[in-house]
Amino acid sequence: MKELLRIAIQKSGRLQEGSLELLKESGLSFSNGKDQLKTQARNFPVEVLFLRDDDIPQYIEDKVADVGIVGENVFIEKQRKNVLIKRLDFAKCRVSIAVPRSEDYRNVSWLSGKNIATSYPNIVRQFLDANGVKAGIHEISGSVEIAPGIGLADAICDIVSTGSTLLSNGLREVEVVMQSEAVLIASQDLGSEKQKILDQLLFRIEAVNSAKNNKYILLNCPNEAISKITSIIPGMKSPTIMPLTRSGWSSLHSVVNENDFWEKIGLLKSLGAEGILVIPIEKMIA
Ligand code: ATP
Ligand code: ZN
Repeated sequence: MKELLRIAIQKSGRLQEGSLELLKESGLSFSNGKDQLKTQARNFPVEVLFLRDDDIPQYIEDKVADVGIVGENVFIEKQRKNVLIKRLDFAKCRVSIAVPRSEDYRNVSWLSGKNIATSYPNIVRQFLDANGVKAGIHEISGSVEIAPGIGLADAICDIVSTGSTLLSNGLREVEVVMQSEAVLIASQDLGSEKQKILDQLLFRIEAVNSAKNNKYILLNCPNEAISKITSIIPGMKSPTIMPLTRSGWSSLHSVVNENDFWEKIGLLKSLGAEGILVIPIEKMIA
């Protein structure tokens, strides 16, 4: 019997949608019914397991699953025998320490002798040790942000994305302990057949993610500007040039990265580019 790569993803929560989307955009076709525990892809040697995200590192260590998608914060916190294969560029957040707004917090030494409520005791301990601060850690599993208000702790350490939860609980973010995003993690030794499936999947994920970060760009420009424009948007190898019927002008096609997109558009316009079209790319293979 052919081996299947077992991929664990979050059953429900903030990682679920991004994880499903990534697998589906990578061409895996599978059903994901509401109460399903696992499902097999119809067109790829993969089985998808739907689990609580916090349990995924343990399941991988126990060889119930081969790979999984979790927040980097969970990967670091759980300290299981897993390896980080790839950062996935979604579910971005940070793990931060916050204190009541009324406190005169200046630096980490404020935390000395205080009590910190968190769902991430290992991450907090590493942070305190790295800063040479001794403080109590009070582990709680949910609604960490209410702990100072009810007198359970002096400070908290929790996930922050916009900060609105902190604000509404009268807290202020004072230290960023780590940045996090969704990551693909794997068992330490997969065996050659499963490793081969994972490599194929990684190739697809790469194509999906680089497509997301890039746009196809078409523009018209005077012929004199072609070489300068080429140096600004060199594309994957070099741009395509097609003559326009209007003499002295060309149409130039290339690829541009999302990160410096607006800055480049400004430059292109100043070089005389007109009729700029920007189109999403679905898959991109270098
Ligand atoms: P439960 O296990 O009870 O479902 P949880 O807090 O572990 O709750 P989620 O809230 O779904 O689960 O968060 C899962 C992961 O998503 C977190 O570990 C973190 O990596 C990421 N995450 C959490 N909150 C945010 C956010 N506001 N923005 C972006 N990513 C987030
Ligand atoms: Zn969870």
